[in-house]
Parts: sequence; structure tokens; C-alpha cells
Amino acid sequence: MPRPIIATIHPEAVRHNLERVRQAVPDAKLWSVVKANAYGHGIENVFEGLRATDGFAMLDLEEAQRLRALGWRGPILLLEGVFEPRDLELCSRLSLWHAVHCDEQIDWLAAHKTQAGHRIFLKMNSGMNRLGFTPERFRAAYARLNALPQVDEISFMTHFSDADVDHGMDHQLQVFHETTLDLPGERSISNSAATLRYGTEGNVRCDWVRPGIVLYGSSPDFPTHDIAHWDLQPTMTLSSRIIATQDLKAGDCVGYGSRFKAEAPLRLGVVACGYADGYPRVCPTGTPVLVDGVRTRTLGRVSMDMMAVDLSPVPKARLGSEVTLWGRASNGAVLPIDEVAAAAGTLGYELMCHVTPRVPKVIEGSGK
Ligand SMILES: *Cc1c(COP(=O)(O)O)cnc(C)c1O
Repeated sequence: MPRPIIATIHPEAVRHNLERVRQAVPDAKLWSVVKANAYGHGIENVFEGLRATDGFAMLDLEEAQRLRALGWRGPILLLEGVFEPRDLELCSRLSLWHAVHCDEQIDWLAAHKTQAGHRIFLKMNSGMNRLGFTPERFRAAYARLNALPQVDEISFMTHFSDADVDHGMDHQLQVFHETTLDLPGERSISNSAATLRYGTEGNVRCDWVRPGIVLYGSSPDFPTHDIAHWDLQPTMTLSSRIIATQDLKAGDCVGYGSRFKAEAPLRLGVVACGYADGYPRVCPTGTPVLVDGVRTRTLGRVSMDMMAVDLSPVPKARLGSEVTLWGRASNGAVLPIDEVAAAAGTLGYELMCHVTPRVPKVIEGSGK
């Protein structure tokens, strides 16, 4: 028998979360962001759940090719555009939309031989200072692009640095709208946080939204709001089993560094999950975990292949009992990935991307 750890992907939850985005912005088209292999879920594993999207957005050409291979004929957008001139050939062949964020990308397009006109999202650096033309240089870039025979359609995008906090977008929004005011073309500005928090407000409304993390059942503004508040469902469950139990006496310690010391007798379970599976080593004693669907806590240091949990609230637990590291337990109880991420001082994004290849992924309901 293989080690009992698995990551279960829930396609129905993906579908539900996409529908939630639709409800939040009924008039907008959706670029479902599937970068980083669908935030660690596997593009192939979420494709069916996202079929009702209007388009897919990512960074890697290889991921765009995989989507075409799955039979997706609709729009695909490369959020960072191309990385070198010859990438443009694949853009033409696979009919990919691509961002243009710098002068070099315009040079490459100007030299590109193509029959089919390209669809461009011209990117503005409205304050995040990663990618894009500054407002001062934006209109000159637009004029250059607009004069190219290789270009069929120009739309506009920018990306928020602080959409998860109050008034975090005000300045960027103002700059973006002022600069593009009289330019014809579609607009895309909102990530998950902006979409759920402000999606229909007049100055935030846009033609295309770009939800990522909400599709994967993590709250874009945790701990201000959790997934229950946004009515999102977990799309990945990391689960394993108890492979041993120990009865501690008062004063006994647990794991490397003896970081946990029992003050009273306590029964613990050893779980087949460690940092080599992608569970964060920095999670301290007290990180929430479910055993047989009952909430309890971790004890001591997470080691490479194992970790310990407190069985006090689950006296019936024994070897083989189900452990839910995050996601949904068999009894329906939910442990949001955001709570585990918070204990590790990080975000749900990082945890879902870091599940390691040795953890088998199974799709719920597929028998696989
Ligand atoms: C990753 C990304 C998104 C999605 O962000 P979320 O916070 O996951 O919703 C949107 N736009 C761009 C440009 C991105 O890189």
C-alpha cells in the first residue's frame, strides 16, 4: 500500500466558485487564471470545472498548449506576454492573446511575420512597479502598437497591489482611468480581491475580470473575510491517515527539538504527512487539523515525512483514522487552507502551489 497521503481535487467546487464570480460581476467576461498549473491543482484537473469561463489566462506557453490540447478553442491570454521573439509564432499558431508590457515586445511584434492579426492587452504600470508602461509612456506605446499591421485589437489592463485592503486601489484606478479615458478598447483591471470586494462599483467595473485564487477556494482577503463569508468551497483537500499512536505522560516531549511538552497525559496520533509533501515546516504547535472530521491541533515540529496531532478531542481515533490537513473531511467538515496558511505566516496561494509531486492527485468522482 502506498503512503496514505493524497490531494483530492473537487471539480464541482471549482464550478461553484466560478459561478460565484459570475454572480459577483454578472456583466463582465471572466479570464480564469490557471497559471502555476492552476495554482498547483493541475490544469487538466480543473478544466472541466472551469468550462463555463470566457477565457483562460496564464504565463507559460506550455500551459497554453496544454489547454489547446484539451480542446479549448476560446480565448487564452498570456499575462506577461512573450519572453522572446519566436514565442510570437506560437501565439499566431495557437491564436493566443498576449499582454504587451515593454518596448522590446513591441519591437518583436513589428518584426513578426504573420497573416493573423494579434490581440493585445497593453499593460499599464499604475503603481505596482512590476510590469507595464508608466502612465507617462502609455499613450506613446499605444500609438506605436496601433500603427502595426500585425495588431488586430488593443485592450488595456493593469494590476492592483492592494486590492485586499480598504482604499488600496484608489490611486491606481484613478491613474488608469485618466490615462485611458478616450482610448477605444476593452479593459481588464480586477483580480479576485477587487472582483469580490468591489466588482460592480462604477470605477472598478470592467469588461474582463481576472479571478485566480477565488476559483481555488481560498479567500482573497483572509482574515478580514473567510471562504464562508464569500460562499466559496475548497477545491483541494490534502488528506492522510494516522499511522501510529502514542500515549504521553506529563512531561513527555514530541518530535525534533522536543518542541512540545505534555503538561498532562495525552494521546497523540502520528500522521503520514511532512514538509516533503508540501506541508509547511514552520507551522507551530496548535495549527488546526481535522481527525475523523473533528478539529484538533498539531503538536511539535513538522518533520520530513511525519507530524503529530493531539487526539484528545477524538478519543475513538486510531491507526487508519482520516486526517485532513486542509480542505473537506469525509463527514463534510471544512478546514480552510487559509487557516493553515495563516499559522505558517503565508497565504493559501503558496500552500496550494507547494504540494510536492510525491503526493498523488486524484479527481473526486472520477474513480481515478
Ligand atoms: C495572478 C494574476 C491574477 C489573479 O490574481 P488572484 O489574486 O489570484 O485573483 C490576475 N492578474 C494577473 C496579471 C496575475 O498575474
